[in-house]
Amino acid sequence: MKKITLEEHFSTFELSQIRNEWVARMGMPLPVNSDRGMQLGRLLGDFENYRLPEMDKYDIEIQVVGTSSPSVQGIISTADAVAMAREVNDILADNINKHPDRFAGFATLPMQDGEAAAKELERCVKEYNFRGALIHGHTNYEYLDARKNWVMWEAAEALDVPIYLHPTESDPTQLKLYEGYPELLGAVWSWGVETAGHALRIMCSGIFDQFPKTQLILGHLGENIPYGLWRMQNQWEQSLRGSSMHTEASRIRLKKTPTEYMRENVMLTTSGNYSPEALRCAIDVMGIDRIMFSVDYPFEETAPAVEFIESAALTDEEREKICYSNAKKLLKL
Ligand code: MN
Repeated sequence: MKKITLEEHFSTFELSQIRNEWVARMGMPLPVNSDRGMQLGRLLGDFENYRLPEMDKYDIEIQVVGTSSPSVQGIISTADAVAMAREVNDILADNINKHPDRFAGFATLPMQDGEAAAKELERCVKEYNFRGALIHGHTNYEYLDARKNWVMWEAAEALDVPIYLHPTESDPTQLKLYEGYPELLGAVWSWGVETAGHALRIMCSGIFDQFPKTQLILGHLGENIPYGLWRMQNQWEQSLRGSSMHTEASRIRLKKTPTEYMRENVMLTTSGNYSPEALRCAIDVMGIDRIMFSVDYPFEETAPAVEFIESAALTDEEREKICYSNAKKLLKL
């Protein structure tokens, strides 16, 4: 079955240097397997030698490509981030232009400066026909709901493009929970908690009320939010009715409820989560039109991702929507 994938990463030499500096600054352990590191470096920098044959092999018609973490989100200097985002987007556009029927782009945005990020998003959409932006979580510990970033959300809505919120490492001050258990860090658990919390901050900020056409994309079948949504909704409604736990500070000021925002403003991808149970839950909670196939190339292998979706208990129409037409419609491909 024909597919579109949209959590697919690339990198440049400069971005890999930024990553190395950032890993040291965040106090993260260095990877032990250097062979895998070398292989990832090769795959991240490549479009034609490895990526296209892999796409052909698994019937992936279009990869929507964005950077790999932390990208410019790992730069401290605002001026450097603005310049690097521009450079990275130009490189991505060059590569897409060589195979415009096979690749599309998600912009890299310098969230250090909300105004500059909005301008860069507009440039990338208008000049390069990029389909939105992929952002790696917080930027210097500041989240996307910060007031200074609303101009970026305003631009995304006006341009009618989605924002993909990709995981990143938490602010080190948030990692007390995992002290003594580093095996829980990263994709195992902490990234999902970080990214789900970030998405809920965006929801609670009122960004979806102010810009109601906003589409936020989450990977990994929703970073566990669909499974917890019933309880969130139930407690939310109790809070609206003024339950005993209710305080003036926690008074809800939003126009809609979590379930409504999830069904109107959030889309999910299957990247790196091949659980039939999680897929069923995501479809039942979000609706079939809000789930999209992705791989998370090259960090995840394509074969198990494809095997999962092609054998999932879905009707042909459901499978086609998840693999292809939901993304085609959202991204106007
Ligand atoms: Mn990823």
